Amino acid sequence: MLPDVPIPKTIHSMSCGLSARSFFDLVKREKITAVIDTRLTKRYRGFGFATQEDDFCYLCETHGVEYCNGDILAPTDFLRKTFHREFTEPKTTATRNPKAWTEYLVGYETLLQQRKPLQSGLLYDVLYGTTHASIAIVCSCLHHDDCHRSYPCGVISRYIDNITLSILYPADRPPSRKSPRRYRNQDFVHADLYKNSPKARR
Ligand SMILES: [Zn+2]
Repeated sequence: MLPDVPIPKTIHSMSCGLSARSFFDLVKREKITAVIDTRLTKRYRGFGFATQEDDFCYLCETHGVEYCNGDILAPTDFLRKTFHREFTEPKTTATRNPKAWTEYLVGYETLLQQRKPLQSGLLYDVLYGTTHASIAIVCSCLHHDDCHRSYPCGVISRYIDNITLSILYPADRPPSRKSPRRYRNQDFVHADLYKNSPKARR
């Protein structure tokens, strides 16, 4: 276990691939006062309102929320590209690496073991050195389980006693999972993430 944070906190796993209204409605409802943006590329042009880091910062400011650059929790370009090449690009199941998402998480786990975000740096400072009691950990992926943010969220809530994890979705309804489905073929106990791949047929 890690030391308790000075005041009890809730961390919310959230997607910024939403409309600004959906995102900030949730922020207001949950009284979130800090957003940690864990995307590798913070000007991702795809969907949602947060396509420019500046706009995201500005919208946070106008809602009285502190925007924090969460690079310490971002994946690497290498991890992203490998996953893309082995899983997203192939057109058929036969050419896809079925363990690509698991391998991505393994690589990400190693990365965090090197970066040690709960010993120093931005995340540590926000958790241990601020009065933010309701904090969002954000990426553009819609579903928690399709996103690298599931890993740090799990670790934080597992190892710090007075931090609770909440997974937030608009209307409290989980969105559909990405297709093809990103399965975990093994347990990641440190992150409370367990194997969720279907059992192999005999
Ligand atoms: Zn993500």
